[in-house]
Amino acid sequence: MSNCLFCRIVAGEIPAKIAYEDDDVLAFHDINPQAPLHVLIIPRKHIATINDLATDDAELVGRLYLAAKKIAAEAGYAEEGYRVVMNCGADAGQTVFHIHLHLLAGRHLTWPPG
Ligand code: 5GP
Repeated sequence: MSNCLFCRIVAGEIPAKIAYEDDDVLAFHDINPQAPLHVLIIPRKHIATINDLATDDAELVGRLYLAAKKIAAEAGYAEEGYRVVMNCGADAGQTVFHIHLHLLAGRHLTWPPG
């Protein structure tokens, strides 16, 4: 989708600091980091929200988590811990409508989030 910010990052039209990539998954550092490590992990394919996931996307969503695990481990946060979260819709704070996991690490994260 040409009007989707994250599709434009996938297409290389908007620069991003890449943390991980494979044929189906792209991960890049958040432009406004909320923790020392804040990476967004997205499918290359456009899916607007969790509500738009199809059964066939199950493996792809699992691979987003495996990418989070790999990035966190390579950054040295496997033991200390990290948070992986996906917002869905306005009340959850979703602002970019292309699904993305937030991977946050490097500081103590409070719960519940605000
Ligand atoms: P959401 O609020 O939809 O869960 O998360 C969207 C995230 O995308 C926010 O954390 C925001 O800082 C990040 N973001 C917005 N625009 C850009 C951009 O152009 N580049 C990067 N790297 N991150 C962005």
